[in-house]
Amino acid sequence: MSIISSRGYLHLKGIKESKHLTSDKEVLEISNEAIAKIYIPEVGPNAVPLTLNVKVGDEVKVGSVIGIRTDFNIPVYCSVSGKIIAEEMLFHAVAGRPVKHFVIENDFKDEKIKALEPLGEDASAEEIVEQIRKAGIVGLGGAGFPTYIKYRGVKDIDTVILNGVECEPFLTTDYKEMQEKRELLLKGATILGRISNAKEVIIAFKADKVDVMAKLNEIIADYPLVKIKTVKDAYPMGWERTLIKELTSREYDRLPSEAHVIVNNVQTTIEVARAVLYGEIMTHKVVTVSGDGVTKQSNVRVPIGTKVSSIVEFLGGYTDENVALLLGGPMTSKGQMNDGVVILPNCNGITILKHRAIKSLPCLRCGACVEHCPAGIQPVEIKIAVESKNIDRIASLNAMSCVECGLCSYICPSKIDVTEFVKKGKLQLRLQEQKKLAQQKAAEAKK
Ligand code: SF4
Ligand code: SF4
Repeated sequence: MSIISSRGYLHLKGIKESKHLTSDKEVLEISNEAIAKIYIPEVGPNAVPLTLNVKVGDEVKVGSVIGIRTDFNIPVYCSVSGKIIAEEMLFHAVAGRPVKHFVIENDFKDEKIKALEPLGEDASAEEIVEQIRKAGIVGLGGAGFPTYIKYRGVKDIDTVILNGVECEPFLTTDYKEMQEKRELLLKGATILGRISNAKEVIIAFKADKVDVMAKLNEIIADYPLVKIKTVKDAYPMGWERTLIKELTSREYDRLPSEAHVIVNNVQTTIEVARAVLYGEIMTHKVVTVSGDGVTKQSNVRVPIGTKVSSIVEFLGGYTDENVALLLGGPMTSKGQMNDGVVILPNCNGITILKHRAIKSLPCLRCGACVEHCPAGIQPVEIKIAVESKNIDRIASLNAMSCVECGLCSYICPSKIDVTEFVKKGKLQLRLQEQKKLAQQKAAEAKK
Protein backbone atom coordinates (compact mmCIF):
# COMPACT_ATOMS: atom_id res chain seq x y z
CA MET A 1 0.00 0.00 0.00
CA SER A 2 1.11 3.53 -0.55
CA ILE A 3 2.49 6.09 1.86
CA ILE A 4 0.15 7.05 4.65
CA SER A 5 0.92 10.60 5.68
CA SER A 6 -1.45 11.06 8.60
CA ARG A 7 -4.98 10.34 9.78
CA GLY A 8 -7.45 11.35 7.14
CA TYR A 9 -4.94 11.82 4.33
CA LEU A 10 -3.48 9.36 1.95
CA HIS A 11 -0.92 9.66 -0.80
CA LEU A 12 -2.75 7.96 -3.66
CA LYS A 13 -0.64 5.54 -5.65
CA GLY A 14 -0.25 6.46 -9.31
CA ILE A 15 -1.94 9.86 -9.07
CA LYS A 16 0.87 11.70 -10.89
CA GLU A 17 0.89 9.17 -13.70
CA SER A 18 -2.88 9.47 -14.09
CA LYS A 19 -2.66 13.25 -14.33
CA HIS A 20 0.20 13.14 -16.82
CA LEU A 21 -2.15 11.50 -19.30
CA THR A 22 -3.62 14.96 -19.94
CA SER A 23 -1.73 17.63 -18.00
CA ASP A 24 1.00 18.21 -20.59
CA LYS A 25 -1.28 18.23 -23.62
CA GLU A 26 -3.02 21.23 -25.15
CA VAL A 27 -6.72 21.72 -24.51
CA LEU A 28 -8.62 20.58 -27.63
CA GLU A 29 -11.60 22.42 -29.12
CA ILE A 30 -14.48 20.06 -29.77
CA SER A 31 -15.46 19.50 -33.43
CA ASN A 32 -18.63 21.06 -34.89
CA GLU A 33 -19.92 17.58 -35.65
CA ALA A 34 -19.92 16.72 -31.95
CA ILE A 35 -21.97 19.78 -31.00
CA ALA A 36 -24.47 19.91 -33.86
CA LYS A 37 -27.06 19.51 -31.13
CA ILE A 38 -26.81 20.73 -27.56
CA TYR A 39 -29.01 19.50 -24.72
CA ILE A 40 -29.91 21.82 -21.85
CA PRO A 41 -31.70 20.21 -18.89
CA GLU A 42 -34.97 21.77 -17.72
CA VAL A 43 -33.61 21.50 -14.19
CA GLY A 44 -30.64 23.20 -12.52
CA PRO A 45 -27.30 21.46 -11.87
CA ASN A 46 -28.72 20.16 -8.57
CA ALA A 47 -31.82 18.77 -10.36
CA VAL A 48 -34.23 21.40 -8.96
CA PRO A 49 -36.70 22.54 -11.65
CA LEU A 50 -36.27 25.77 -13.61
CA THR A 51 -38.94 28.36 -14.30
CA LEU A 52 -38.70 28.09 -18.08
CA ASN A 53 -38.15 31.12 -20.27
CA VAL A 54 -38.18 29.35 -23.67
CA LYS A 55 -40.14 26.71 -25.52
CA VAL A 56 -39.75 24.38 -28.48
CA GLY A 57 -39.63 26.41 -31.72
CA ASP A 58 -37.85 29.43 -30.16
CA GLU A 59 -34.71 30.85 -31.72
CA VAL A 60 -31.95 31.18 -29.11
CA LYS A 61 -28.57 32.87 -28.90
CA VAL A 62 -25.51 32.41 -26.74
CA GLY A 63 -26.67 34.08 -23.51
CA SER A 64 -30.44 33.54 -23.96
CA VAL A 65 -31.95 32.70 -20.59
CA ILE A 66 -33.27 29.13 -20.74
CA GLY A 67 -34.80 29.38 -17.29
CA ILE A 68 -34.37 30.53 -13.72
CA ARG A 69 -33.50 28.13 -10.93
CA THR A 70 -36.44 28.00 -8.55
CA ASP A 71 -34.23 27.32 -5.53
CA PHE A 72 -31.64 30.11 -5.75
CA ASN A 73 -33.11 32.51 -8.31
CA ILE A 74 -30.20 32.29 -10.74
CA PRO A 75 -30.37 32.05 -14.51
CA VAL A 76 -29.32 29.15 -16.70
CA TYR A 77 -28.02 30.40 -20.05
CA CYS A 78 -27.90 28.94 -23.51
CA SER A 79 -24.40 28.01 -24.66
CA VAL A 80 -24.90 28.11 -28.47
CA SER A 81 -27.05 29.96 -31.00
CA GLY A 82 -29.72 28.15 -33.02
CA LYS A 83 -33.23 26.80 -32.59
CA ILE A 84 -34.93 24.68 -29.95
CA ILE A 85 -36.21 21.79 -32.02
CA ALA A 86 -37.49 19.37 -29.40
CA GLU A 87 -37.62 18.19 -25.82
CA GLU A 88 -36.00 14.87 -24.98
CA MET A 89 -35.82 12.75 -21.85
CA LEU A 90 -32.17 12.16 -21.02
CA PHE A 91 -30.53 10.75 -17.95
CA HIS A 92 -29.42 13.50 -15.53
CA ALA A 93 -26.26 12.72 -13.59
CA VAL A 94 -27.31 14.50 -10.37
CA ALA A 95 -31.02 13.67 -10.43
CA GLY A 96 -30.14 10.01 -11.05
CA ARG A 97 -33.15 9.68 -13.39
CA PRO A 98 -34.20 10.88 -16.85
CA VAL A 99 -35.35 14.51 -17.02
CA LYS A 100 -36.56 16.69 -19.88
CA HIS A 101 -33.85 18.48 -21.87
CA PHE A 102 -34.28 21.12 -24.56
CA VAL A 103 -32.63 19.98 -27.79
CA ILE A 104 -30.98 22.95 -29.50
CA GLU A 105 -29.90 22.71 -33.12
CA ASN A 106 -26.63 24.62 -33.30
CA ASP A 107 -26.51 27.07 -36.25
CA PHE A 108 -22.79 27.76 -35.59
CA LYS A 109 -23.38 31.50 -36.11
CA ASP A 110 -22.37 32.01 -32.48
CA GLU A 111 -24.76 34.96 -32.20
CA LYS A 112 -24.68 36.43 -28.72
CA ILE A 113 -26.98 38.31 -26.41
CA LYS A 114 -25.11 40.57 -24.04
CA ALA A 115 -26.48 39.09 -20.84
CA LEU A 116 -24.60 41.47 -18.53
CA GLU A 117 -22.86 44.83 -18.61
CA PRO A 118 -19.40 45.02 -17.04
CA LEU A 119 -19.21 46.76 -13.67
CA GLY A 120 -17.04 49.80 -13.12
CA GLU A 121 -14.11 49.85 -10.71
CA ASP A 122 -16.23 51.73 -8.17
CA ALA A 123 -18.93 49.04 -8.03
CA SER A 124 -20.07 48.28 -4.49
CA ALA A 125 -19.81 44.84 -2.90
CA GLU A 126 -23.60 44.48 -3.19
CA GLU A 127 -23.49 45.27 -6.92
CA ILE A 128 -20.73 42.71 -7.45
CA VAL A 129 -22.61 40.01 -5.53
CA GLU A 130 -25.69 40.77 -7.64
CA GLN A 131 -23.58 40.53 -10.81
CA ILE A 132 -22.32 37.10 -9.69
CA ARG A 133 -25.94 36.02 -9.16
CA LYS A 134 -27.03 37.34 -12.56
CA ALA A 135 -24.12 35.54 -14.22
CA GLY A 136 -25.50 32.29 -12.77
CA ILE A 137 -22.10 31.31 -11.38
CA VAL A 138 -21.97 28.10 -9.36
CA GLY A 139 -19.09 26.32 -7.65
CA LEU A 140 -17.06 24.73 -10.41
CA GLY A 141 -15.07 22.40 -8.18
CA GLY A 142 -17.91 19.91 -8.32
CA ALA A 143 -20.41 21.10 -5.73
CA GLY A 144 -22.39 23.43 -8.01
CA PHE A 145 -23.50 25.65 -5.09
CA PRO A 146 -24.41 29.21 -6.17
CA THR A 147 -21.42 31.45 -5.52
CA TYR A 148 -23.32 34.64 -4.72
CA ILE A 149 -24.89 33.03 -1.63
CA LYS A 150 -21.46 32.75 0.01
CA TYR A 151 -20.86 36.50 -0.33
CA ARG A 152 -24.35 37.89 0.28
CA GLY A 153 -24.37 39.85 3.57
CA VAL A 154 -20.99 38.37 4.40
CA LYS A 155 -19.29 39.33 7.67
CA ASP A 156 -16.42 38.23 9.92
CA ILE A 157 -14.40 36.71 7.09
CA ASP A 158 -10.65 37.25 7.24
CA THR A 159 -9.47 34.71 4.66
CA VAL A 160 -10.66 33.59 1.24
CA ILE A 161 -9.11 30.35 0.01
CA LEU A 162 -9.12 29.63 -3.71
CA ASN A 163 -8.92 25.91 -4.15
CA GLY A 164 -6.78 24.66 -7.04
CA VAL A 165 -5.67 21.48 -5.27
CA GLU A 166 -7.56 19.11 -7.56
CA CYS A 167 -6.58 16.05 -5.54
CA GLU A 168 -8.67 13.51 -7.46
CA PRO A 169 -6.66 11.27 -9.80
CA PHE A 170 -6.93 11.96 -13.57
CA LEU A 171 -8.50 15.45 -13.37
CA THR A 172 -6.42 18.36 -14.66
CA THR A 173 -8.89 21.13 -15.57
CA ASP A 174 -8.07 23.38 -12.60
CA TYR A 175 -4.41 23.04 -13.52
CA LYS A 176 -4.99 23.90 -17.20
CA GLU A 177 -7.20 26.87 -16.35
CA MET A 178 -4.68 28.22 -13.78
CA GLN A 179 -1.94 27.87 -16.38
CA GLU A 180 -3.87 29.69 -19.09
CA LYS A 181 -5.88 32.32 -17.17
CA ARG A 182 -3.54 33.60 -14.48
CA GLU A 183 -4.58 37.27 -14.80
CA LEU A 184 -8.28 36.46 -14.55
CA LEU A 185 -7.53 34.27 -11.55
CA LEU A 186 -5.65 37.03 -9.74
CA LYS A 187 -8.25 39.65 -10.66
CA GLY A 188 -11.07 37.38 -9.51
CA ALA A 189 -9.13 36.69 -6.29
CA THR A 190 -8.90 40.43 -5.62
CA ILE A 191 -12.63 40.90 -6.29
CA LEU A 192 -13.58 38.09 -3.90
CA GLY A 193 -11.20 39.49 -1.27
CA ARG A 194 -12.74 42.94 -1.63
CA ILE A 195 -16.38 41.89 -1.40
CA SER A 196 -15.75 39.72 1.65
CA ASN A 197 -13.49 42.30 3.32
CA ALA A 198 -10.90 39.56 3.83
CA LYS A 199 -7.37 40.38 4.96
CA GLU A 200 -5.91 37.90 2.54
CA VAL A 201 -6.82 35.65 -0.36
CA ILE A 202 -4.85 32.43 -0.65
CA ILE A 203 -4.56 30.55 -3.93
CA ALA A 204 -3.76 26.97 -2.95
CA PHE A 205 -2.48 24.15 -5.11
CA LYS A 206 -0.12 21.21 -4.90
CA ALA A 207 3.60 21.89 -4.60
CA ASP A 208 4.39 20.07 -7.83
CA LYS A 209 2.64 22.76 -9.94
CA VAL A 210 5.88 24.66 -10.30
CA ASP A 211 4.96 26.18 -13.67
CA VAL A 212 1.74 27.66 -12.26
CA MET A 213 3.70 28.99 -9.31
CA ALA A 214 6.26 30.64 -11.61
CA LYS A 215 3.59 32.19 -13.87
CA LEU A 216 1.61 33.60 -10.96
CA ASN A 217 4.74 34.89 -9.23
CA GLU A 218 5.67 36.94 -12.31
CA ILE A 219 2.65 39.21 -11.81
CA ILE A 220 1.42 38.67 -8.26
CA ALA A 221 3.07 41.87 -6.96
CA ASP A 222 0.25 43.78 -8.71
CA TYR A 223 -2.28 42.01 -6.50
CA PRO A 224 -1.24 42.77 -2.90
CA LEU A 225 -4.20 41.01 -1.28
CA VAL A 226 -3.33 37.66 -2.90
CA LYS A 227 -0.89 35.02 -1.66
CA ILE A 228 0.09 31.63 -3.02
CA LYS A 229 0.43 28.60 -0.78
CA THR A 230 1.24 25.06 -1.77
CA VAL A 231 0.00 21.95 -0.01
CA LYS A 232 1.21 18.38 0.15
CA ASP A 233 0.22 15.76 -2.35
CA ALA A 234 -2.33 13.88 -0.30
CA TYR A 235 -5.98 12.94 -0.60
CA PRO A 236 -8.44 14.54 0.15
CA MET A 237 -6.40 17.73 0.54
CA GLY A 238 -8.90 19.54 -1.71
CA TRP A 239 -11.79 18.91 0.69
CA GLU A 240 -12.50 22.32 2.19
CA ARG A 241 -12.35 21.16 5.81
CA THR A 242 -8.92 19.61 5.25
CA LEU A 243 -7.67 22.58 3.27
CA ILE A 244 -8.79 25.14 5.87
CA LYS A 245 -7.08 23.13 8.60
CA GLU A 246 -3.91 22.85 6.55
CA LEU A 247 -3.73 26.54 5.66
CA THR A 248 -5.12 28.25 8.76
CA SER A 249 -4.96 25.55 11.49
CA ARG A 250 -8.65 26.23 12.13
CA GLU A 251 -11.51 23.79 12.45
CA TYR A 252 -15.26 24.34 12.32
CA ASP A 253 -18.47 22.56 13.01
CA ARG A 254 -20.85 23.20 10.08
CA LEU A 255 -19.66 25.95 7.77
CA PRO A 256 -16.26 27.41 6.86
CA SER A 257 -17.58 30.87 7.82
CA GLU A 258 -17.43 29.71 11.47
CA ALA A 259 -13.65 29.64 10.92
CA HIS A 260 -13.87 33.10 9.24
CA VAL A 261 -13.06 31.55 5.87
CA ILE A 262 -14.77 31.27 2.49
CA VAL A 263 -13.54 28.65 0.03
CA ASN A 264 -14.04 28.88 -3.73
CA ASN A 265 -12.68 26.87 -6.59
CA VAL A 266 -10.09 28.57 -8.85
CA GLN A 267 -12.27 28.16 -11.97
CA THR A 268 -15.19 29.77 -10.14
CA THR A 269 -12.88 32.70 -9.37
CA ILE A 270 -11.98 33.06 -13.04
CA GLU A 271 -15.70 33.16 -13.93
CA VAL A 272 -16.28 35.85 -11.30
CA ALA A 273 -13.60 38.03 -12.93
CA ARG A 274 -15.11 37.50 -16.41
CA ALA A 275 -18.60 38.41 -15.20
CA VAL A 276 -17.65 41.44 -13.13
CA LEU A 277 -14.98 42.99 -15.33
CA TYR A 278 -16.24 42.08 -18.80
CA GLY A 279 -19.93 41.19 -18.35
CA GLU A 280 -19.26 37.67 -19.67
CA ILE A 281 -21.20 34.56 -18.73
CA MET A 282 -20.02 30.99 -18.65
CA THR A 283 -21.12 29.02 -21.71
CA HIS A 284 -18.23 26.59 -22.17
CA LYS A 285 -16.32 24.23 -19.94
CA VAL A 286 -12.98 22.46 -20.08
CA VAL A 287 -13.39 18.79 -19.15
CA THR A 288 -10.69 16.20 -18.62
CA VAL A 289 -11.46 12.98 -20.46
CA SER A 290 -9.09 10.31 -19.23
CA GLY A 291 -8.52 6.71 -18.20
CA ASP A 292 -7.63 3.52 -20.05
CA GLY A 293 -11.18 3.17 -21.40
CA VAL A 294 -10.97 6.03 -23.91
CA THR A 295 -8.80 5.98 -27.05
CA LYS A 296 -7.33 9.45 -26.65
CA GLN A 297 -6.99 11.19 -23.31
CA SER A 298 -7.25 14.96 -23.38
CA ASN A 299 -8.77 18.10 -21.96
CA VAL A 300 -11.52 19.31 -24.26
CA ARG A 301 -13.34 22.63 -24.33
CA VAL A 302 -17.05 22.06 -24.93
CA PRO A 303 -20.29 24.06 -24.76
CA ILE A 304 -22.32 23.29 -21.64
CA GLY A 305 -24.95 20.77 -22.68
CA THR A 306 -22.65 18.68 -24.88
CA LYS A 307 -23.42 14.97 -24.69
CA VAL A 308 -20.71 12.81 -23.12
CA SER A 309 -21.13 10.27 -25.94
CA SER A 310 -20.22 12.98 -28.50
CA ILE A 311 -17.06 13.90 -26.59
CA VAL A 312 -15.98 10.26 -26.34
CA GLU A 313 -16.60 9.78 -30.05
CA PHE A 314 -14.55 12.91 -30.79
CA LEU A 315 -11.68 11.32 -28.87
CA GLY A 316 -11.76 8.09 -30.86
CA GLY A 317 -14.31 6.13 -28.85
CA TYR A 318 -13.96 3.51 -26.12
CA THR A 319 -11.09 1.07 -25.97
CA ASP A 320 -13.26 -1.75 -24.72
CA GLU A 321 -16.86 -2.89 -24.87
CA ASN A 322 -17.05 -3.03 -21.11
CA VAL A 323 -16.04 0.22 -19.42
CA ALA A 324 -16.93 2.13 -16.27
CA LEU A 325 -17.90 5.71 -17.06
CA LEU A 326 -17.56 8.19 -14.22
CA LEU A 327 -18.55 11.85 -14.29
CA GLY A 328 -15.65 13.29 -12.30
CA GLY A 329 -12.70 11.53 -10.75
CA PRO A 330 -12.61 7.90 -9.62
CA MET A 331 -12.58 8.60 -5.88
CA THR A 332 -15.84 10.50 -5.53
CA SER A 333 -17.86 9.91 -8.67
CA LYS A 334 -20.64 7.51 -9.34
CA GLY A 335 -20.68 5.24 -12.38
CA GLN A 336 -23.12 6.38 -15.06
CA MET A 337 -25.68 4.02 -16.55
CA ASN A 338 -25.12 5.40 -20.05
CA ASP A 339 -23.18 8.08 -21.94
CA GLY A 340 -26.25 10.08 -22.96
CA VAL A 341 -25.72 12.43 -19.99
CA VAL A 342 -24.62 15.99 -20.73
CA ILE A 343 -21.88 18.24 -19.42
CA LEU A 344 -23.11 20.58 -16.68
CA PRO A 345 -21.15 23.64 -15.47
CA ASN A 346 -19.79 21.81 -12.42
CA CYS A 347 -18.57 18.72 -14.31
CA ASN A 348 -14.77 18.77 -14.49
CA GLY A 349 -14.07 15.41 -15.97
CA ILE A 350 -15.05 12.12 -17.46
CA THR A 351 -13.04 9.16 -16.22
CA ILE A 352 -13.41 6.04 -18.32
CA LEU A 353 -11.85 2.85 -17.03
CA LYS A 354 -11.77 -0.62 -18.49
CA HIS A 355 -13.94 -2.95 -16.47
CA ARG A 356 -12.06 -4.82 -13.77
CA ALA A 357 -13.80 -7.60 -11.90
CA ILE A 358 -13.42 -6.90 -8.20
CA LYS A 359 -14.12 -9.70 -5.77
CA SER A 360 -14.85 -8.52 -2.26
CA LEU A 361 -13.69 -10.59 0.69
CA PRO A 362 -15.13 -10.58 4.20
CA CYS A 363 -14.23 -7.68 6.47
CA LEU A 364 -11.00 -8.27 8.38
CA ARG A 365 -11.92 -5.75 11.09
CA CYS A 366 -8.53 -4.18 10.40
CA GLY A 367 -9.79 -0.67 11.12
CA ALA A 368 -8.03 0.90 8.13
CA CYS A 369 -11.22 2.60 6.94
CA VAL A 370 -11.74 4.15 10.38
CA GLU A 371 -8.09 5.14 10.64
CA HIS A 372 -8.17 7.06 7.35
CA CYS A 373 -11.65 8.56 7.26
CA PRO A 374 -11.12 12.34 7.06
CA ALA A 375 -14.58 12.92 8.57
CA GLY A 376 -13.54 11.02 11.69
CA ILE A 377 -16.43 8.54 11.50
CA GLN A 378 -16.46 4.72 11.48
CA PRO A 379 -17.28 3.51 7.96
CA VAL A 380 -17.14 -0.19 8.85
CA GLU A 381 -19.62 0.25 11.71
CA ILE A 382 -21.95 2.20 9.41
CA LYS A 383 -21.71 -0.63 6.88
CA ILE A 384 -22.78 -3.12 9.55
CA ALA A 385 -25.67 -0.86 10.61
CA VAL A 386 -26.81 -0.49 7.00
CA GLU A 387 -26.69 -4.26 6.50
CA SER A 388 -28.80 -4.79 9.61
CA LYS A 389 -31.13 -1.89 8.65
CA ASN A 390 -30.50 -0.22 12.03
CA ILE A 391 -31.36 3.40 11.20
CA ASP A 392 -30.87 4.69 14.76
CA ARG A 393 -27.38 3.22 14.79
CA ILE A 394 -26.59 4.79 11.38
CA ALA A 395 -27.65 8.16 12.79
CA SER A 396 -25.70 7.72 16.02
CA LEU A 397 -22.59 6.87 13.98
CA ASN A 398 -22.91 10.28 12.35
CA ALA A 399 -23.08 8.94 8.79
CA MET A 400 -24.23 12.34 7.50
CA SER A 401 -20.70 13.70 8.17
CA CYS A 402 -19.36 11.53 5.34
CA VAL A 403 -18.07 13.67 2.46
CA GLU A 404 -18.08 10.73 0.05
CA CYS A 405 -14.36 11.02 -0.56
CA GLY A 406 -14.03 7.31 -1.36
CA LEU A 407 -10.99 6.74 0.88
CA CYS A 408 -12.60 3.93 2.88
CA SER A 409 -13.22 1.91 -0.30
CA TYR A 410 -9.76 2.73 -1.63
CA ILE A 411 -7.96 1.64 1.52
CA CYS A 412 -10.00 -1.49 2.27
CA PRO A 413 -7.77 -4.61 1.92
CA SER A 414 -10.89 -6.76 1.44
CA LYS A 415 -11.95 -4.59 -1.51
CA ILE A 416 -15.31 -3.82 0.07
CA ASP A 417 -17.01 -0.75 -1.41
CA VAL A 418 -17.45 0.74 2.05
CA THR A 419 -18.28 4.20 0.63
CA GLU A 420 -21.36 2.81 -1.11
CA PHE A 421 -22.63 1.43 2.21
CA VAL A 422 -22.11 4.81 3.88
CA LYS A 423 -23.90 6.56 1.01
CA LYS A 424 -26.81 4.12 1.42
CA GLY A 425 -26.88 4.93 5.12
CA LYS A 426 -27.06 8.65 4.32
CA LEU A 427 -29.88 8.06 1.88
CA GLN A 428 -31.81 6.07 4.48
CA LEU A 429 -31.42 8.92 6.99
CA ARG A 430 -32.60 11.47 4.41
CA LEU A 431 -35.64 9.36 3.55
CA GLN A 432 -36.45 8.95 7.24
CA GLU A 433 -36.21 12.73 7.71
CA GLN A 434 -38.51 13.33 4.71
CA LYS A 435 -41.02 10.83 6.09
CA LYS A 436 -41.00 12.57 9.48
CA LEU A 437 -41.57 15.96 7.84
CA ALA A 438 -44.44 14.61 5.75
CA GLN A 439 -46.03 13.09 8.88
CA GLN A 440 -45.63 16.39 10.75
CA LYS A 441 -47.25 18.29 7.89
CA ALA A 442 -50.12 15.82 7.69
CA ALA A 443 -50.66 16.09 11.46
CA GLU A 444 -50.64 19.90 11.28
CA ALA A 445 -53.09 19.85 8.39
CA LYS A 446 -55.50 17.75 10.49
CA LYS A 447 -55.49 20.32 13.35
S1 SF4 B 1 -16.25 8.12 1.98
FE1 SF4 B 1 -17.13 8.94 3.88
S2 SF4 B 1 -16.91 7.32 5.37
FE2 SF4 B 1 -15.55 6.83 3.65
S3 SF4 B 1 -13.56 7.72 4.23
FE3 SF4 B 1 -14.62 9.28 3.01
S4 SF4 B 1 -15.70 10.53 4.53
FE4 SF4 B 1 -15.11 8.65 5.57
S1 SF4 C 1 -10.94 -1.36 5.84
FE1 SF4 C 1 -12.29 -2.97 5.00
S2 SF4 C 1 -11.56 -4.83 6.04
FE2 SF4 C 1 -10.75 -3.10 7.21
S3 SF4 C 1 -12.32 -2.72 8.80
FE3 SF4 C 1 -12.81 -1.37 7.08
S4 SF4 C 1 -14.29 -2.58 5.91
FE4 SF4 C 1 -13.26 -4.03 7.23
